[in-house]
Order: sequence, then C-alpha cells, then structure tokens
Amino acid sequence: MAAEIICVGTELLLGEILNTNAQFLAQQLADLGIPHYYQTVVGDNPERLKQVIAIASDRSQILIFTGGLGPTPDDLTTETIAQFFGSPLEEKPEIIADISQKYARRGREMTPSNRKQALIPQGADILPNRLGTAPGMIWQPRPNLTIFTFPGVPLEMRQMWQETAVPFLKSQGWGREIIYSRTLRFWGIAESALAEKVDHLLNLSNPTVAPYASKGEVKLRVSAKAASPQEADRLIQPVEAEIRQIAGLNYFGADDDSLASVVGQLLQKRAETLSVAESCTGGGLGSLLTSVSGSSAYFMGGVISYDNQVKISLLDVSPEDLAQEGAVSATVAKQMAVGVRSRLGTTWGISITGIAGPNGGTETKPVGLVYIGIAGLNNFVQSFEHRLNSLQDRTLIRHISACTALDHLRRQILSAN
Ligand code: ATP
Ligand code: MG
Repeated sequence: MAAEIICVGTELLLGEILNTNAQFLAQQLADLGIPHYYQTVVGDNPERLKQVIAIASDRSQILIFTGGLGPTPDDLTTETIAQFFGSPLEEKPEIIADISQKYARRGREMTPSNRKQALIPQGADILPNRLGTAPGMIWQPRPNLTIFTFPGVPLEMRQMWQETAVPFLKSQGWGREIIYSRTLRFWGIAESALAEKVDHLLNLSNPTVAPYASKGEVKLRVSAKAASPQEADRLIQPVEAEIRQIAGLNYFGADDDSLASVVGQLLQKRAETLSVAESCTGGGLGSLLTSVSGSSAYFMGGVISYDNQVKISLLDVSPEDLAQEGAVSATVAKQMAVGVRSRLGTTWGISITGIAGPNGGTETKPVGLVYIGIAGLNNFVQSFEHRLNSLQDRTLIRHISACTALDHLRRQILSAN
C-alpha cells in the first residue's frame, strides 16, 4: 500500500505559490505510517493530468489530489479523473443544497458555474467542505485504488483531510506503525549538561530520546514507534517521568507549552497578576506574555523604562542609586520591579535591565550583563545577575533575557509552594 500526492495548479508550476499542500500531506502520511514514494505537480491541463493519473494509478494505491475543484473553467480535476476511468459524472443534490445555503448565508445567489462543483463520478462519496464551497470526494474507481480529491485552498484541504481522510485511512488499517513524539522543554540548563544527566536514556531504541537546543531553550524529543497513540504513550510515559524527575525545576513544559504560557497557567491557577518593567528588552517580555491567548486574565501591563528619567518618574527608582550604581545594576532592577508592581497594583512585578550591545559595554559592565528583578507579596524582592556575553547578538540577548525573566518568576512561584 503506497500513497501518491498530486497537486494540480499552473500557479504551482510557475512558482507563484509554494506547494505547502504537498508538505502537509507528506507529513501526515509519515505520521500515519503510510508509505509515500512520489509527488507530482501538474498544471491545469486535462491531457497532462491524464498522463499523470495513468502513471500514478499504475504504481500507487492511494492517490491524493489537491486543487482544481473550484467553479471556474480551469478547475478540471474531478472531470478529468472521471474521464480517465471512463465514469460518467453525476449531479449530487446535497452538494447543490449545501452550496446554495452557503451562498445564501453570505447574501448571494449561487451562480450556474457552481453547479459544476456538484458533479462527481458515479459511486464516489462526498468529502464535505465546511469552510469553502468546493467539496472533495473519495472514490474507488477500481479495486485496490482509492482516490481523494481536496480543494487547493490549504485551510480547507487540511480541515477536510483531518475530518475525513484520516479516520478513513485509519479504519482501513493502511498505516504501519506510527511515530509519536513528545517534546519536553527545559530552561536554565545547558544542552550538554542535560544530555549528561540523561545519558543512559540517549541510547534507547523505542522510545528514542534526542536532545535539541535553540535560543536558550533545551528540548528532549521522546519518540516512540507504535501501532496506536495509546501504545506510544505507554512507551513514552515512564521515560518522560524519569527525565522530569532528573531535570527537576529545569523542566518547564511539553509540546506546545512556552515559558509564557506556563507562567500564565501558574498565575491563573493562583488568581495572581503580573506587571513588567523593561529596559533593554524594550517590550519583548510584554510581547511574550501577550502572545498567549487569554493573558489579559493575569497580565496587567508594563512600563518600557528605557531612559533613566522614566525609571525615576514612572517606577520610583532612586536617582541617587541610579547615579551611584548605574541603570544596569541589581539595586535598580529590584527598584524597577517593586516600582512597577506597586504602580500597577499586581501580585508580581518583573524587571529587566541590561546591556544588549553590540555597543555600550564597559570593562565592569560588559555587553550581555543583565539584571532581572522579581517583586512579590510581603515585600519579597530579589535580583538575578546574568552574563550572556557569549551570545554576541543583540536580538538573542534580548530574547533570552525576556525568557529568563519568565523563568525566574516560574521558579519563584513553584519553589514557594
Ligand atoms: P477554488 O474553489 O478556490 O478555486 P480549487 O480547489 O479550485 O479552489 P485552486 O483554484 O487550484 O483550488 O487553488 C485555490 C488556491 O489555493 C490557490 O490560489 C492557491 O493560493 C492555493 N493552493 C492551491 N494549490 C496549492 C498547493 N499545492 N499548496 C499551497 N496552496 C495551494
Ligand atoms: Mg480554482
């Protein structure tokens, strides 16, 4: 059993759009464990499309088409497939009803050209399209050959694939073992240090454990080969538990979690709130926090106190301390955190002040020197010094500073319990 992807569209051949449909489908087939050896792109041309169908139907048992299902004359995928297999087209009243309803909802009349979209080969089943008008089909024109058609619009194609093709393919038992992965995420530990700690797990064969690192974050990808997600989960579970036990507080989340989402969940659970005072990150911390949907429940806002005058006037930082210790100092970081917390009336205040470079460093205060302040209930206030000079990159220093600030708050909340 092998599947083949056929993307129809002259604009693909002209290089006007990237073939993201093929990439998506290829990943999906790999996840399902369905072998896949060929992909074809062909223009909106019936003769060439027929040649492609001839070759593909000879060597593959599942043909997946995208594109060319629309109402215009250049949309000819369905009729060309039907012609190739010598099957008449049949008008499906349920498609007409569905399309006219969708048009009516938009206050428009269905055009005669839309009727074309209601034609599918005799014996084919409709794959409904919830997002657009063009439905797809699933059809077995002959034994041992299954054809899927999807619209070219990626959003529609993906939704239809998930809702219709995936359950069908699974029900046929066509997938081999699937590969199921879980990504465990860590902050505050170097990749090499973590790899050393879990060294004995890096040679496992099922699941496998592989370390990755990017922009200060370290990840361990735990991948299991199994016949079902449940079985994969059973293989991954004990290894994950052991890794988390070894990593302790360095572990912050898995898969789609981010430091910002994890901190958000912690705050929300405790009905606590947060404000930020940022100097060298210029809003980067606020941006990370607000990238999480629903963050308004706990994130109140912040002050970008780039200039010392702003630190003094909006955050009540002491002008004397500023003059004596400099803006990049533990004292000022603490005062910024306390100041923003009190001005915005939040449970927690975080501050960041540092030298992102490439200019502005001195012997005693080199580029990459960053202070993070955390202020909380009962006059809690603490500062942390970081030396990120090895990064040598302004963007990276700013990003890692913002993430590190979130990480300090996360650890503070977790260790207080
Ligand atoms: P419609 O009803 O919108 O005409 P259709 O099924 O006829 O849908 P096409 O006309 O082939 O699909 O493509 C619609 C749009 O979808 C294209 O303009 C393009 O932006 C996008 N698209 C088509 N094929 C692909 C592809 N393989 N990868 C990514 N995007 C694609
Ligand atoms: Mg079209």
